[in-house]
Parts: sequence; C-alpha cells; structure tokens
Amino acid sequence: MNDQTLDHVVLRCRGCQAAYPPALEHVCPNCLGPLDVEHDHAAVAARLSRDAVEAGPRSIWRYQALLPAAPASGDLAPGLTPLVPAPRLAEALGVPGPLLLKDDTRNPTNSFKDRVVAVALARARAFGLTTVACASTGNLAGATAAAAASQGLECVVVIPADLEAGKVASAAAFGATVVAVQGSYDQANRLSSQAAEAFGWGFVNVNLRPWYAEGSKTVGLEVAEQLGWSLPDHVVVPIASGALLTKVHQGFQVLAGHGLVERTPARVHGAQSTGCAPVASAFAEGRDEVTPVRPSGIVKSLAIGDPADGVEALQTVRGTGGRVEAVDDDEVVEAMALLARTTGVFGETAAGVTVATVARLAAAGAFRPGERVVALVTGHGLKTIDVLDGRVGGRTVTVRPNIDALEEALAPLRPDLTATA
Ligand SMILES: *Cc1c(COP(=O)(O)O)cnc(C)c1O
Ligand SMILES: [Zn+2]
Repeated sequence: MNDQTLDHVVLRCRGCQAAYPPALEHVCPNCLGPLDVEHDHAAVAARLSRDAVEAGPRSIWRYQALLPAAPASGDLAPGLTPLVPAPRLAEALGVPGPLLLKDDTRNPTNSFKDRVVAVALARARAFGLTTVACASTGNLAGATAAAAASQGLECVVVIPADLEAGKVASAAAFGATVVAVQGSYDQANRLSSQAAEAFGWGFVNVNLRPWYAEGSKTVGLEVAEQLGWSLPDHVVVPIASGALLTKVHQGFQVLAGHGLVERTPARVHGAQSTGCAPVASAFAEGRDEVTPVRPSGIVKSLAIGDPADGVEALQTVRGTGGRVEAVDDDEVVEAMALLARTTGVFGETAAGVTVATVARLAAAGAFRPGERVVALVTGHGLKTIDVLDGRVGGRTVTVRPNIDALEEALAPLRPDLTATA
C-alpha cells in the first residue's frame, strides 16, 4: 500500500527510547515499555500551517499533517465539534472568567471516542486487518462498532458485563459481536490482550493503541484553533486511561512548537470520580506511582482501575501547574443536571465528573478573573439516563387533556407559569 502518511513517523519506546518503524506493535520488544507515535518535526513543518488547517475538511482530518494516517474510505468524519461559551454555567459554578464547553457529544456516536477510532481504523486498514475489536468501558464499543459497520469490517467489542444497557444496545445495533465479560474493565482488557495475540484482531486500544491515542490529540488542536489560535488558561479533562489528558496537552505543545500558537501557560486539570480515582489519589498524596484500584460507582465510562497512561497524566498535570480532583456520585449527578439546565448540553456521567471538578477548582480559587477555562464534555447524557432516575431536573406532571386539569396540576408547583395572559 502506498502510504505516505507513515514516511515520517516512528514508534518510540517510552521506556528505553528505542525507535521502531511503524508496525502493528504496541510494546517494545527490548524492554516491554509502551510505544508512542513520534512525528518528524521537519516533515510536519513542511505541511502544517494555519491556512492549510482552515482550508481542510470539517473533521479531525483537517489536522492530517499531525496525524499518522489518512482517512479510510467510509470514515465517519468525527471532530471539529463546537466550543460553546457557557456563561450561565460559569455564574452558577463561580468561574470568574469565560467558561467554554468542548461539546464532543456532537460526534457520530456521541462521544469523543469516534476520534480515536477513526485514526486506529485508518491504520488497521493500512496494516491489512479485516477484523477490528476493542476493550471498552462503553463509548468505545459504539464508536468502534459504528466505524466498522461503515467501513465493512468485522467487529468484536469486549465489555464488562455490568455496562449501561444503552451502550451495549448501540454496539449490537451496529452489528458488532458483543462479548460481555463477567468481571471488571481491567479484566476485559487483559482478556483482550490475549485475544489480540490468539486471533490477530486489531484491538483499537490494545495492539493499535499508539495510533488510537493520536486521535485524542485532535481535541487539543481544535480547542486552540477555536480560541483563535491561542491556548486556554485552563482545560479540565476527565481521566480514564489518561490518554486523552496527555494528548490534549501534547496537542497544545505541538502547535506551540510549530509556531501556530503562542506558548502561553495552559494548566491541565484532571477529573475522576471517587469510585475510581487512582490518579487523583496519587496526586493528592504526592506519589509518583499510580496504584491500581477496583472501580465502583456510577461513572462507568471512566472506570479504569489500572490506567495505562496514568503516570503520564499525573506528570502532565503537575508539569503544567494543574490539579486532579475526585468527585463523588452525588456531585456527578448534580453537575450533570446543572450542565443541562444552564447550557442545553446534556452530558453523561463523565461530563458530570468534569463539571463537578470545575466547581471544585473554582471554589479553591484556581481560576483568576479573565482566565479562559475549557471543560471537555466527552459523552452524551442519553447514554447514562438511568443515574438521573428522577432525582434532578425539571418535574413531570401527568394530566387529563383539558386546560382546567393542566392549571390545577401546575398551580401548586409553578404558579408563575399559569398567570393569565
Ligand atoms: C474514554 C472516555 C474518557 C477518557 O478517556 P481516556 O483517554 O481513556 O482517559 C472520557 N470521557 C468519556 C465519555 C470516555 O468515554
Ligand atoms: Zn523499550
């Protein structure tokens, strides 16, 4: 296959720093360290400019100069989601300056995972694979299944058996074979490593992981472009494996390195739930190691107890002067409802974690007046409606179909709504 996009890319070992030519590998044969994609600076510089990006497709592929793949036929064109001002939410949370939401619910399967899948599948095709798979905490299953359906690939998704029904149903609707593992995500992930070896499938977040992670970078790239080619003062990122957080920061750095934005301080903050807070605990206790935990609670999409990029996420946060917070399930539900009520954006539990973390940071005085704060809304609330369970939000009244019944029902609840015109 003629694949110019790989001419200037190597796989670099995070452990021993050895470099390897692009291949379906994710572990260093020398030291077993994880491999990351590394781009040649001069080759990127020759292709990358603000003009070239702005003239590109309205998707992640406008940043092709910074991605290790070209879109596959049938690609769903994720990305370039809106960055929306949220003044009413800022006021409610006590954020003194502008608060903006990166609304990744607007992706093809309503989460940011469509970005990482697009890059991983483009590479899978170039490697000649015909079956793709993933180990998923929920959103990745739907994203992989949909992209595989569109591209005519076989798809297997491996999930923990206790996942939200909506997430399982959507993966199945796209025609994927769903393997529900009686165990945690971390166990599903280990089984996936064995299946990748045994069956030669392309697991987007296992043997294709170096390529997959590159897709996350596009969130940071877009935020900078949408802020008029400048970096935010703060970005608040939910952490599962830690790849999104690490790559958002890398996206900022690479744009600064190529002179597309000024290198201003951008604090990167991490958000976890108390049910699965290995990175937040390490941050709070000043540890360099991330100790695995057994996840619990309602925030399933972030429930990775042994995060692959946890240490890198921790280093990124510390290096930028950010913080990692852990918020409890009640704060998450409150924040989901507040987000929806004040912005019209309905985010899932992970978004609740992020918004509750913004509230914590605001209360701690982390944001100064005038500083721009970006919060990532990474998945849609319809995927996790069970957790709301009538606890929050607008009230429902059931009435007979006549005006007197309506007035009678509303009067005690909202007399303001029934004042005569
Ligand atoms: C996967 C996921 C994340 C976090 O991604 P990592 O790169 O694994 O840290 C955040 N939010 C949602 C909704 C997700 O599905
Ligand atoms: Zn190595």
